[in-house]
Amino acid sequence: VSLPVDLVDMLRSTVRERGAHPAFVTDGGGLTWTETGAEVEALARRLAGAGVRPGDRVAVLAGNGLPFTTAVFAVWAAGAIAVPLNFRLTAGDLGGLLSDSGARLLLVGPGLEQLAADSVAQCGAPPEVAHADGVGRLLVGGAEGGLPDRTPGGDAPAAVMYTSGTTGRPKGVVISHGNALQNAVTCTSVIGRGPDDVELVMVPQFNITGLCSQTVPVALLGATAYLLDGFDAARALDAVGEHGCTSTVGAPTMWWRMLEQSDEHGRDELTGLRLALFGGAPMPTALLQRMHDAMPDATLGNGFGMTETCSMLTYVGGDDVLRVPHSVGGPLPLTELRLLRPGTDQEAGDGEIGEIVVRGAQVALGYWTGDGIVPLTDTEGWISTGDAAVLEDGFVVLRDRLKDVIKRGGESVFSFEVENVLYQHSGVLDAAVVGVPDEQYGERVVAHVVAKPGSDLTSEGVRAFCRDHLAHFKVPSVVEIREELPRNPGGKVVKSALRSAPTS
Ligand code: ATP
Ligand code: MG
Repeated sequence: VSLPVDLVDMLRSTVRERGAHPAFVTDGGGLTWTETGAEVEALARRLAGAGVRPGDRVAVLAGNGLPFTTAVFAVWAAGAIAVPLNFRLTAGDLGGLLSDSGARLLLVGPGLEQLAADSVAQCGAPPEVAHADGVGRLLVGGAEGGLPDRTPGGDAPAAVMYTSGTTGRPKGVVISHGNALQNAVTCTSVIGRGPDDVELVMVPQFNITGLCSQTVPVALLGATAYLLDGFDAARALDAVGEHGCTSTVGAPTMWWRMLEQSDEHGRDELTGLRLALFGGAPMPTALLQRMHDAMPDATLGNGFGMTETCSMLTYVGGDDVLRVPHSVGGPLPLTELRLLRPGTDQEAGDGEIGEIVVRGAQVALGYWTGDGIVPLTDTEGWISTGDAAVLEDGFVVLRDRLKDVIKRGGESVFSFEVENVLYQHSGVLDAAVVGVPDEQYGERVVAHVVAKPGSDLTSEGVRAFCRDHLAHFKVPSVVEIREELPRNPGGKVVKSALRSAPTS
């Protein structure tokens, strides 16, 4: 077996070997691998014709679909660096990211022309803009130029991927071709995806998971991906049924919605899935059990990682997922993992909570800043994740983001633990717990919950439930019942918005 050296080499080899097999499928049409290869090479030559050179940044603003997918592969084939953008950001934020990345060109997918124009207007050094013209065709009619003689190689930067912005302003992470290939190989071998799988991509392709743990692995295998533009539970179930999807990755909140949809309308499409994967945010035990009940034959898998590590660091699949709740498994191949007492370089003791610190082939090249690439590791290559965990039987069990741990009096309250209890309440659909300043205790525990339709949830009822299941200092002093929780496109609750929300 010869493994590809970079993502361009990877796609070309898949096109040679899997040409007639369906590659990317959408409601508006699809492409085989041969067609994908042809679209990508043609667009890459037009990018070269438009002056794009190796090392240039080319931003891509598009929803999940063929324009996004062919654009990113074409940027790579031209030797350049892709900058996928989150189209749910404001024009002001996008203008800032365009300036930061120093993009020379912005490729725009259907429906986003106005947002692109507004963003460019707010960018100090505006890039040129090219629009989509029909499915998968960007820059149609542009002059063609010659492509680089050699493909970029494993160490070359492939993309500037922005973090989800859960704890602050999104950070631009520079991933290399080697980072992305390493993750794709792992996704294939450890998770057990194969060339006959049909992957449902329902998380945004502009996020690290959608791009590096779904789109790129599908291209490595020459499998098929159905690209869903914008998550919607009913449409996701339709896609599984109509396109025979066998595997997907979703944030826990997406799984809730799909299971609710299935129950409410008596739908059984989810039983068609062989692999039901999740990550990005903590998985409540009650939801895990429900997934298992709905898909008893599927392999459930939890992947933990971050943009800075080009997606996955640890993985657990199968029976172990159910055995150790909140476990994210053990480190992947080529990954070293330690738990350190926060703020020190001492290893946490047995059963002691520590910050996850890792080193490995998937750790990105650095953060992109206006002044170039700055390292994200210490001098020995270790990166601090900001996530607290304990080891149980060799399994990493996440406890909380360090920034979300609530310091109440002398005690630490882990928001995941309280949320996990809230999800066990039969009337709770969604829940998030934050610390807010308190004169007496420093911080107090505040819960924000969304009621299941038709339930008669009350704040006092939720608090009474918590009193039965949690130590007294962990019981939320306030329970706010809300219509919905603020979530970013990766399905994570934006807790900073909740901390500043007025409570009654
Ligand atoms: P920002 O860094 O901009 O604040 P972010 O950390 O949410 O945003 P990502 O890189 O998309 O940006 O997410 C990585 C984080 O997501 C991890 O540090 C961890 O807190 C959380 N996470 C990832 N996978 C899991 C998982 N399987 N279970 C629980 N949490 C997870
Ligand atoms: Mg982060």
